[in-house]
Amino acid sequence: MKKKSNLLLVLCCYLIFIILGAHSSVNLVLGSKYIINGGVSYFKVSISDKNIKNIMVKFQQHKISLMVIPKNQFIGFIGVNYDIQQGKYPIDISWERNNKKFTKKYYIIVQEGDYPSSKLKVDGKRVILNNLDRKRAADEKNMLKEQIFGNPHEIVHWNEKFNKPLTSVITSPFGVKRIFNGKKSSHHSGVDFRAPVGTKVKPINRGVVRLTKNLFYGGNVIIVDHGSNIFSSYSHLSEFKVREGDLVEKNQVLGLSGNTGRVTAPHLHLGIKLNGVTVNPITFIDLFNKVIFR
Ligand SMILES: [Zn+2]
Repeated sequence: MKKKSNLLLVLCCYLIFIILGAHSSVNLVLGSKYIINGGVSYFKVSISDKNIKNIMVKFQQHKISLMVIPKNQFIGFIGVNYDIQQGKYPIDISWERNNKKFTKKYYIIVQEGDYPSSKLKVDGKRVILNNLDRKRAADEKNMLKEQIFGNPHEIVHWNEKFNKPLTSVITSPFGVKRIFNGKKSSHHSGVDFRAPVGTKVKPINRGVVRLTKNLFYGGNVIIVDHGSNIFSSYSHLSEFKVREGDLVEKNQVLGLSGNTGRVTAPHLHLGIKLNGVTVNPITFIDLFNKVIFR
């Protein structure tokens, strides 16, 4: 009889421990278990204890910006690299409570997106860059990584739903594999909108202009920092209408479209960098609006 009551006591203590443990926990729920390369997903983190501090979520070495929503909850968006292999990948979450650090792992499954290919047969010289051009392109890539994308504004600038920059037809979607002379050389890192030279281009949301510069591939490029580690870029412009440091509203004109940089015809190329990863702009815009403004 005594043995039984002891067992009951142990069981009760164990249950209380579980309940208390669950009470002071951090929980992450994924919007979807699956994601494709170049795609976007989201998660919600809920905490049930005000002593929980310094929550940090990381995916593939990238810190994910967390947006606060009511009821002790946070939302974060995960972007997956286009070049990632299929498989199961960890999402690492850490937090502090009473000066103690805790960690937990969740997993997301990356599947291969069904991206179309465009096969091109061109003169080899057009694909292979000369040394000077290669150096310029590499220097610009580093500059963007270090000075712009690696240095996002902490303040949230976006204030409404994200728009598409133009309502015109998409002439080339994100992710198209470019196969030059039978070899995959690159993929389309953004989305192209039909735009005759001189079309007014507006930002997809409120933000701060971080760059107005002529780049090797993008020609005249504007990069807007929307906060929450979300950047949008507008390439091949013919004219800039804003300056670096300007806070731009959604209805303001950033510049005029054109055909500067490496293009065969005038159009607007829109790119999105989300938590340090280049993602499909249309997927991002649609998912962000659905999750945040539902
Ligand atoms: Zn493009």
